[in-house]
Amino acid sequence: MIHKFDVVIVGAGGAGLRAAVEIPKEYSTAVISKVFPTRSHTGTAQGGVCAALSNEEEDSWLNHAFDTVKGSDYLGDQDAIEIMCKDAPRAIIELEHMGMPFSRTKEGKIAQRKFGGHTKPVDPNDPNSKRIPVKRSCYSADRTGHVMLQTLYENCIKNNIMFFSEFFLTDLIIEDGICKGLTVFDMATSEIHVFQAKAVMFATGGYGRAFRITSNAHVGTGDGCAMVYQAGLPLEDMEFYQFHPTGLWRLGILVSEAARGEGGILRNNANEPFMEVYAPSVKDLAPRDLVSRAIISEIRAGRGILGSDGTHYINLDLTHLGKKIIDEKIPEITGFARTYLGVEPTKECVPIQPTAHYAMGGIPTNYDTEVFADTKGNVVNGFYAAGECACVSVHGANRLGTNSLLDIVVFGRRGGKRIAEYLPKAKHHEFKIDPTERTRSKINELLARTGSEKVAVIRRELQQSMMDKCGIFRNEKDLLENKEHIKEYKQRYKNITVQDKSKVFNTDLIEAIELGNLLDIAESVNESALNRHESRGAHTREDFPKRDDVNWMKHTFITKNDNGSTNIDYKKVIKTQFEPMERKY
Ligand SMILES: Cc1cc2nc3c(=O)[nH]c(=O)nc-3n(C[C@H](O)[C@H](O)[C@H](O)COP(=O)(O)OP(=O)(O)OC[C@H]3O[C@@H](n4cnc5c(N)ncnc54)[C@H](O)[C@@H]3O)c2cc1C
Repeated sequence: MIHKFDVVIVGAGGAGLRAAVEIPKEYSTAVISKVFPTRSHTGTAQGGVCAALSNEEEDSWLNHAFDTVKGSDYLGDQDAIEIMCKDAPRAIIELEHMGMPFSRTKEGKIAQRKFGGHTKPVDPNDPNSKRIPVKRSCYSADRTGHVMLQTLYENCIKNNIMFFSEFFLTDLIIEDGICKGLTVFDMATSEIHVFQAKAVMFATGGYGRAFRITSNAHVGTGDGCAMVYQAGLPLEDMEFYQFHPTGLWRLGILVSEAARGEGGILRNNANEPFMEVYAPSVKDLAPRDLVSRAIISEIRAGRGILGSDGTHYINLDLTHLGKKIIDEKIPEITGFARTYLGVEPTKECVPIQPTAHYAMGGIPTNYDTEVFADTKGNVVNGFYAAGECACVSVHGANRLGTNSLLDIVVFGRRGGKRIAEYLPKAKHHEFKIDPTERTRSKINELLARTGSEKVAVIRRELQQSMMDKCGIFRNEKDLLENKEHIKEYKQRYKNITVQDKSKVFNTDLIEAIELGNLLDIAESVNESALNRHESRGAHTREDFPKRDDVNWMKHTFITKNDNGSTNIDYKKVIKTQFEPMERKY
């Protein structure tokens, strides 16, 4: 079946929906999602969305931009960061006017809380003075993403956006440097649909499922990024993958930084609040890369708490906050601790460990979400990307908490606006090859495999290897071993059998396609990590422990060649007003 739309957006998370709302009503817009829109991962975001509103205390967009640049370990593009931080207060008020129910201060203003790495100088006239945590994150209890997603979805319905839910992206059609559309697979019927569009946007989210312990939903398999990589286009800064310090022990389910924003404290086996040693000024509210390394360092030094299965964890202490704060401000995350670990957070500490959380890298774009075809700034006509799958890059080597929900609404909207400007001069393009046939043969080939390998087994081994060898601490030996593992898994993948041959909700087949995507994502992350001989942000090389601005203040662009080998190129980091300095907290 062939559909013709002016705009097709793949992804119904915050980025895709915010972009869709921006497309003028006279154009036809379709949003495709492999899950029902409000089940997108944005809906699980807990802690907040930041903006220097100064509702609870004095703050400025410049403070926010400074923190974001420093948090990014100076790899973020400063022009894009300035745009995001300046636009943040407008974006929050806009969400409020769309109907998003924020928590409130006593005076009825949007309430704000502290979050890791968000600071202000003690002396506002001296930007170099000591910095202390500031309340910058706007929130709706610990369900901020949930209410944001519902609000955006309602606004899409109001704007007559067409939704194709449980449709799975299978092919991106780029011919002669022009994006002409895509093919999708209807999960309910196995029918292949072709979408011809003047503009295509990917808002397909992250790929936490490449790692064993992750906060990401099962859908976080990086399909959009993988498809771009498979099309021979570059992915940017894939080595920078964020581990959130506090996932529930062994499960990875997130305990939002809001828990520490409200006063929670990390403690080791001697009950010591060890963050005082690693980040004397901001302590438990240091950025995520630093706290995650501190937790692993404590465990490596024998100061973790021994769990029933022989692995170690660290305690998150919320007991001193009191029942009222816990019930009102962080009800959901404390509920998770009760349900999944049987721990009562008002009385006992919550066992945690770092969990794979957020992709700083992704599909390279300019700050209007146009996708870069190369490091020279050439773009792919008609192709846009926004949200976690994209790399603008506002997060550089490490994202600050609550900057992602901001990124998706700011750049989702900018993408929608840029598409609206492009549409009057754009047209539909004819396909040179039959896109249905290409997808059908890809799927038939997968279904025809009869080997003895199982998708779930390869996926589990891949996730474990990525966790152990390409996680928080990395070194050449581990990364080379991981490279060999990925090669082996790719080989074994050719030998899988998709047991279910039926046409109705064939999740066995979908998981096989997703594994193919995860293998490519893992390859791009590992190759980029192997190549970067320094430590910066979330990328910590034990064999290159220092940041090296002389040689490595540059973005990685990795591409896949036709013969399966990879190629790495570099792009300059854009600097405006913030000079690189040592990152101390
Ligand atoms: C547990 C958790 C808590 C978080 N808390 C916060 C927070 O408090 N503050 C903050 O700023 N950030 C937070 N983050 C990060 C933030 O929520 C995400 O980065 C952001 O919501 C991503 O939005 P998105 O629109 O890019 O993608 P997503 O919301 O992940 O949506 C991706 C969409 O793409 C679709 N899709 C993907 N592949 C395909 C395919 N093959 N075919 C069809 N459709 C496809 C999916 O169906 C989905 O609709 C959190 C993340 C997690 C995991």
